[in-house]
Amino acid sequence: MLKLQTVAEVRSFLQPHRAAGRRIGLVPTMGALHEGHRSLIRAARAACDVVVVSIFVNPTQFGPNEDYAAYPRPLEDDLAACRAEGVDAAFCPPVEEMYSPQAATTVSVARLTEGLCGAHRPGHFTGVTTVVTKLFNIVQPNVAYFGQKDAQQAVVIRKMVHDLMFPIEIVTCPIVREADGLALSSRNVYLSPAERRQALSLSQALNWAREQVAAGERNVATLTEGMRQRITAAGPCVIDYVSIVDADELTPKQRVEGNCLIALAVRIGRTRLIDNIVVSV
Ligand code: AMP
Repeated sequence: MLKLQTVAEVRSFLQPHRAAGRRIGLVPTMGALHEGHRSLIRAARAACDVVVVSIFVNPTQFGPNEDYAAYPRPLEDDLAACRAEGVDAAFCPPVEEMYSPQAATTVSVARLTEGLCGAHRPGHFTGVTTVVTKLFNIVQPNVAYFGQKDAQQAVVIRKMVHDLMFPIEIVTCPIVREADGLALSSRNVYLSPAERRQALSLSQALNWAREQVAAGERNVATLTEGMRQRITAAGPCVIDYVSIVDADELTPKQRVEGNCLIALAVRIGRTRLIDNIVVSV
């Protein structure tokens, strides 16, 4: 496996593959790779001739009071994980390679970025869509892989790809969870043992909502209130949102109908956790 750090290195590595008509898959990550990331890499490995994983903690998607400096960066472990998954090249650029101080251009997606995490993390999605655009232009993959864990991000990227006519197929992979239900996240390492137990309330609240919907409950206020109660009963936390929205448009629903995304973001101590499920009725 190659470790590439510059745009020029990525381009010269991929040029002969592209010329030979090989299918190139890209898995964008911020590193601290876990089984969730690895599921994306495996999906890419199964469907593509050449697999590129990017490992870049993107400064522009972090707010000023967020965890950019503290974000885990176990690069050697990440490279070993990529090697073990049969990745062809890991792209690990320094920040200066991705962002010039003279840069004047960003990419932003309107409407879909207003609610959910967008309402609580101003500028976050512009950081995401700008860096993903750069990665798409550097790698020019045939297909790129994203996780349903970041459901709003996946919807926003799909919209961007459609609106800006990127010739790239977007694959969204299911959420990988711990045996007890906690969604895997690079941020789970921040949790103390007590917070880790408390964090289980997120997936439990989502499962409760799924059962309620299966039993016929359609009232969104009833469902979100029940989820909030379950989360706050587990311990001290700040709920950024518990929302039920249209799964494609991300618009708020009053009643559960069609494909609905049930999504939440909760801060437990210094750790912000997100999780979601999709229900179809
Ligand atoms: P990140 O490194 O957090 O930026 O995540 C990189 C990619 O991995 C994103 O597309 C995430 O949605 C995806 N991902 C993160 N956690 C999980 C998980 N538990 N299951 C599936 N995909 C995930």
